[in-house]
Amino acid sequence: METQASFRTRLLEAGILFPTGVDGLWGRNGTFEQVFDGLERAITAAGADHGAEVMRFPPAMSQATFEKSGYMKNFPHFAGTIHCFTGDDRDHYKLMGQMERGENWMEKQEPSGLVLSPAACYSVYPIVARRGAQRGVLPAEGALVDVSSYCFRHEPSLEPTRLQLFRMREYVRIGTREQVMEFRQEWITRGEAFARSLGLPFEVDVANDPFFGRAGKLMADNQRSQNLKFELLVPINDGAGPTACLSFNYHMTYFGDTWEMKTPSGEAAQTACAAFGMERLVLALLRHHGFDLAAWPAGVRKTLAI
Ligand code: 5GP
Ligand code: ZN
Repeated sequence: METQASFRTRLLEAGILFPTGVDGLWGRNGTFEQVFDGLERAITAAGADHGAEVMRFPPAMSQATFEKSGYMKNFPHFAGTIHCFTGDDRDHYKLMGQMERGENWMEKQEPSGLVLSPAACYSVYPIVARRGAQRGVLPAEGALVDVSSYCFRHEPSLEPTRLQLFRMREYVRIGTREQVMEFRQEWITRGEAFARSLGLPFEVDVANDPFFGRAGKLMADNQRSQNLKFELLVPINDGAGPTACLSFNYHMTYFGDTWEMKTPSGEAAQTACAAFGMERLVLALLRHHGFDLAAWPAGVRKTLAI
């Protein structure tokens, strides 16, 4: 078996990944993006009968939305904020000198009001919550959104499957407990069928998010014992455990309470999401079918339309 480093080395040698000098930040070539585009099509096809509303977001969200989402409470170690120069001519002169001397030049970099998105679905909730004749009251059928965004998490790593900036595509369900639970169960089944259609070995297992700090341990334990998160894991890096390529999350009323979304009967709305880690899926396919797309199994190529 190859080592994990050799998979990364092979990706680099084949010119599929371009190094940027930062761990967890890679450029990608046309082969990678061809598979990526195929996955986008296949994910659309996998959910086509559901008629989800499409939303696409830039990699950042407003600071206000980010703050209200509660991300800093649970994952302060992953967050990335965007800061910009706000000084005058004198400050600029000083800045140029500091840069030339290799000194800290960040003192006049002020918060821009933008924060990098940590998860694609975070942008959806405030938008759905503002809708309706009665703000925040969902229609009887609830809401279903097909969303994608670049996401940022500050966890530098040499593993090609752990990126600081990566693309996440999600189906997000907002509604009653019954609607949301049915959605999640349905998407676990669809996710398994999706992985099978891609010829990937996988397992689905209960999981937890990497909550911060000592209180985080308790949060993670609760999340596990209540079966709030499942992952579809694919072996990609040798010498390491399998990698989560899809996540199936049930948030109960967390976002419903946060954004004051209600069901028609006046209860707090519940939410769930099925999240596809796009780069991880591309890497899983390259790992299992090789770097020559023309030699991939016909069924896989058909699923991806490549
Ligand atoms: P979650 O919000 O469940 O942590 O992430 C959703 C999905 O995004 C995961 O199932 C995974 O496929 C993808 N993902 C999470 N973290 C990373 C990462 O560090 N790098 C990459 N490439 N994908 C990630
Ligand atoms: Zn989500």
